[in-house]
Amino acid sequence: MIIENELILSKRDNHPQDTVVRIGNTAIGDGGFTVIAGPCTVDDRETLLLTAEKVKEAGARILRGGAFKPRTSPYAFSGLREKGIKFLASARALTGLPVVSEITDVSQLESFESIDVLQIGARNMQNYELLRALGKIKKPVLLKRGFANTVSELLYSAEYILAGGNPNVILCERGIRTFETETRFTLDLCAVPILKEMTHLPVIIDPSHAAGKSDFVAPFAAAAKAIGADGLIIEVHISPECAKCDGAQALTPEQFALLMKRLDGIPKFEK
Ligand code: PEP
Ligand code: MN
Repeated sequence: MIIENELILSKRDNHPQDTVVRIGNTAIGDGGFTVIAGPCTVDDRETLLLTAEKVKEAGARILRGGAFKPRTSPYAFSGLREKGIKFLASARALTGLPVVSEITDVSQLESFESIDVLQIGARNMQNYELLRALGKIKKPVLLKRGFANTVSELLYSAEYILAGGNPNVILCERGIRTFETETRFTLDLCAVPILKEMTHLPVIIDPSHAAGKSDFVAPFAAAAKAIGADGLIIEVHISPECAKCDGAQALTPEQFALLMKRLDGIPKFEK
């Protein structure tokens, strides 16, 4: 029987216990607070390796880095592509940190062999062929909420991956578009308790893309833990002023280390 407009596999009613997504020797959704950190893009090998070592030292459990970047302007730096993926594999080997990177097309799947978590960016949240393709593999998927999408639309997108047979989905709130322009997007913190009630899937927050400005990243991150998120994905760069993408919202390794210490003192909200 075909049931239309029904959330089945993502719904908490049908799966009361929390889903724990295991990534290497770490996990998201196990009751802890897992921090993913690294540069927006892989700019070059050395910058990535240095940043990776720094974020590991500060307590990040997973490294992030974009190699295929969807950019608003076709003239903007759009990533090192396959070369960037190779550098991420080197950073993984050097630090032992698992790696997350954004995949923008099904044809890239083979090149992402060495990537532990496949990120679907906000702009691709409703790229249904990509969602279907990632449903056919078992690798964890970090699914970002589109900036003009409701939480229920986010769950329908997750449902595509689950329905294909891949249960390893992590949801990510990264800010939505509102009339407010002081931040790059408006961080919808309300999405965390709402999603926790609706679904068993883990939910993390990306304070960097919501803020657009590094000064706001720490308070947004603190609020994410206090409202019950399962973790964060944060942009960190060894020299934000030289970053090829999103430098204004990147924390320095020192700012990131300080934030990690402050987060230790904030209890995670538990229902
Ligand atoms: C990113 O993580 O660098 C990114 C492009 O995020 P988003 O898809 O949320 O804009
Ligand atoms: Mn970015």
